Amino acid sequence: MTAGRWERVEGLVDVGHLRDRHVLVVGLGSGGSTVVLELARAGVGRFTLVDPDRMEERNVIRHECDDRYLGWNKAEAVADLIRHRNPEASVEAVSANVFDLGGRLGEVVGDADLVAGCTDVEPPKSLLDRACLAARVPAVYAGVYERGVGGEVIRCAGGPADPCYACVMSVLKESAPVPAGDDLDYGMVAADGTLHGAPGLGLDVRLVALVHAKVCLLTLLAGTGGEDLPADVVLVGTARVDGLFSRPFASALLRVPPQEGCLACRPFRPAAV
Ligand SMILES: [Zn+2]
Repeated sequence: MTAGRWERVEGLVDVGHLRDRHVLVVGLGSGGSTVVLELARAGVGRFTLVDPDRMEERNVIRHECDDRYLGWNKAEAVADLIRHRNPEASVEAVSANVFDLGGRLGEVVGDADLVAGCTDVEPPKSLLDRACLAARVPAVYAGVYERGVGGEVIRCAGGPADPCYACVMSVLKESAPVPAGDDLDYGMVAADGTLHGAPGLGLDVRLVALVHAKVCLLTLLAGTGGEDLPADVVLVGTARVDGLFSRPFASALLRVPPQEGCLACRPFRPAAV
């Protein structure tokens, strides 16, 4: 029934390789929904989606799911979208907070080829960081700057010479002048932790999410003959930001070595590193 669906991507990506890849996605808000859909469109064949929240009116204007999904659990709603793009994909939707998964989190991470961290707060990213370090599974995280003026995509490739999420964040906090606010993520949560503080256009969130999806795809395809990403961090701007982006659509690639003394990854590294 779906014969011919992949002919527009064949030759560009290894469809057979992606069909066998399993991606865990934590956070199915506006950014996460775009990341997942793009991976499904590229041919990724297996997903585990984790989010405890339901679609609300305020989500409709930025989320890939529209008002037909109001009241649905977000993981279930995005799973439904995947099935209409890639019906052969295996999708498990888990309506739960990632902190409530207990030992199951380690099992799912260990079974995954990649983890996409798309949550709108920091603590789940730290939890995923530790789980990915333990299982040596690559992870890609993203954050959108307040008012959607740009964002950052962080890849932790999982190798012994690669930084963990905590390593990268410690360097970014010291060196990159992040614009306004300091809790910057897909939900664009205000400094007081509310979801109402910062407006942002869906297209600006989506632009960062598309970069996030592309970095996920490059990571899944690493070693299959394509070009790898020579960076651990991608900064992308949608507007000019003093000290960070000299013009709209400016971007930068950064390498971040593992940080000596990083409390998150030190237990998982040989003493000499
Ligand atoms: Zn670290």
